[in-house]
Amino acid sequence: VHGRLRGKVVLVTGASSGIGEAAARLFAKEGASVVAAARRMDRIESITEELREEGLRVWGVVCDVTDEDSVAKAVKSTMEHFGRLDAAFNNAGIPGAMRPLHELVAADFDRVLATNLKGAFLCMKHEIPAMLASGGGAIVNNASIGGLVGAPDSSFYGASKWGLVGMTKCAALDYARKGIRVNAIAPGPTRSEMFDGWMATEAARERLAAAMPMNYIAHPDDMARAALYLLTDEARWTTGAVLACDGGAS
Ligand code: NDP
Repeated sequence: VHGRLRGKVVLVTGASSGIGEAAARLFAKEGASVVAAARRMDRIESITEELREEGLRVWGVVCDVTDEDSVAKAVKSTMEHFGRLDAAFNNAGIPGAMRPLHELVAADFDRVLATNLKGAFLCMKHEIPAMLASGGGAIVNNASIGGLVGAPDSSFYGASKWGLVGMTKCAALDYARKGIRVNAIAPGPTRSEMFDGWMATEAARERLAAAMPMNYIAHPDDMARAALYLLTDEARWTTGAVLACDGGAS
């Protein structure tokens, strides 16, 4: 098998749509054995079936990143199925409650942080021992430009993504001498289900595209390529880094 991830077993969370789906497809085409994880198993099954028909090695697992037992089971079944874990793209995420701070409620804080920040923690907590048992590894967390700059109506989403950037940098130091690199990508606007929720009308999307330095909104595949780079040995001297992928907007 050819490809930049040949021989590697890679876990992708939130692989049922958007950036995670694009990553699962790209990593499989780059020779990885991919474990595609998400809650919507019907979606995961149709993606994995399609890729298997192309002769690629993919396997689907149900995983809710807010539930530690579910995360532990996904990593355990990865080890049982493929025998090792070399890389992970912790991509699962949800939009924040998009309102000014004083209109936000505590339950939304818990909900957004549970997925975007604690979810990534739970994934890393269970992935890392599996990677150590496999002789090392690489992790990429999917943060956001919203984790590097402030944005209006984004207090909880921003808090979750700034937190994820911080956790990435700290964890990178915990494992730098143990052969595991931990990095993040910080996507700007990217066409996905989440994005279409934010930008509900075609007119709004066109206005935003026109305001982007490169004059278009990213495709999920643009983000998958950035994550791919950080997961390969091409990035072997890069850890604790956050790669801004926003077409120059920030
Ligand atoms: P999508 O809504 O298309 O994808 C989100 C994915 O996350 C889905 O596969 C969903 O799967 C999964 N997910 C959500 N909650 C959970 C959970 N509790 N457990 C497991 N999986 C979960 O949006 P994107 O592809 O845009 O989002 C992917 C990541 O990119 C997110 O972290 C987002 O914050 C980040 N991002 C996106 C930007 C954009 O403009 N699109 C910009 C910056 C960052 P399921 O529902 O099946 O579980």
